[in-house]
Amino acid sequence: MITCPRCRFCKTPLQHTLVDLGMSPLCESYVSADQLNRMEPFYPLRVHVCECCFLAQLEAYVSPEDIFTEYAYFSSYADSWLRHAKSYTDMMAERFGIGPGSFVIELASNDGYLLQYFVEKGVPVLGIEPARNVARVAIERGIPTLVEFFGEQLAEKLAADGKKADFIVGNNVLAQVPGLNDFVRGIKVLLKSRGVATLEFPHLVRLMDENQFDTIYHEHFSYFSFFAAEKILAAHGLTIFDVEELATHGGSLRIYAKHPEDATKPITARVGELRAREENAGLTRMRTYLAFSEKVQETKRKLLEFLIKVKREGKAVCGYGAPGKGNTLLNYCGIRTDFLDYTVDRNPYKQGKFTPGTHIPIFSPDRIRETQPDYLFILPWNFKDEIMEQMSYIRDWGGKFIVPIPEVRVYA
Ligand SMILES: [Zn+2]
Repeated sequence: MITCPRCRFCKTPLQHTLVDLGMSPLCESYVSADQLNRMEPFYPLRVHVCECCFLAQLEAYVSPEDIFTEYAYFSSYADSWLRHAKSYTDMMAERFGIGPGSFVIELASNDGYLLQYFVEKGVPVLGIEPARNVARVAIERGIPTLVEFFGEQLAEKLAADGKKADFIVGNNVLAQVPGLNDFVRGIKVLLKSRGVATLEFPHLVRLMDENQFDTIYHEHFSYFSFFAAEKILAAHGLTIFDVEELATHGGSLRIYAKHPEDATKPITARVGELRAREENAGLTRMRTYLAFSEKVQETKRKLLEFLIKVKREGKAVCGYGAPGKGNTLLNYCGIRTDFLDYTVDRNPYKQGKFTPGTHIPIFSPDRIRETQPDYLFILPWNFKDEIMEQMSYIRDWGGKFIVPIPEVRVYA
């Protein structure tokens, strides 16, 4: 008997599919040369949507311990990401008066790319990061970091040690916790009575409007509308008092949360506006979600049509980047070395390895200049402007850029 999975937040049985991307390996499990002939685990990449709270979600087929204890993503390798982190810390320090007398905690602090800017301002910080290898980099950089998963238990321990936070940062982590309720309860416990927590996560509305199905991968357990996020935080005693829409990751939300008793932070008009906009866009009706699947399938057909055409013309196509999202796209569309000769990545951790499932070799970006491909297929399309600028020299030999999402487009 097949048992129906239940909603991670409200426990309603999940009976509706947002999109089914088939079977896929874990998108960060890059394959080394000596592993090429071995079996690779594939897991379903099927997103459910809850009919009660409209939280879109994957089942947690793999434990976070399997995914996050050795992680290939080092935030510091993307220039625009660092700029985003820097301007964020400047803004927050000014708006909420964060200074040497404050205490800032970041959940999933990665290699310390963000906390370093608070440290520069003399603010005491603590990072919490479960991936040992990236946490080590942060510690070497002088950023105090606990190598642990965050949840209510750890929050209670820190609170008992007098380490409650004035300011909690959770950028791109909420989507990645299978124990969503435990995580949000932890924030409630850890936040001082007049504290602020900001959380950033990709906005489900943008994912659906702009066809960003490749931002779906096993490490991303949940996909939030503002509606769902507000409901979840409220259930754990946190009030969203402001929200911003950001360009990062193809369109993210940054929500600002406080304790409901804290009257010093009025709720901004943006909160009501976004709530109304989502309702008008149909985000509180199931049929809006059920229409997404066909759109994704059509994107795949168009992309393959294009690649088949240029390969028949005898053109050489290479990838740029080997991000997690690239692996969802490559596996779902069935793009291997029959379409992409190789891909490149600036992260030395990935160089010399192969993409999971599709086994496309990953080289250093220098290889592009040596082989002069006709097309450069940009996998991390959220950085496309930065990449096209960095790689503009491919135009010297008539090279063009391919951007696959929202639908395939060529930039000469
Ligand atoms: Zn639910």
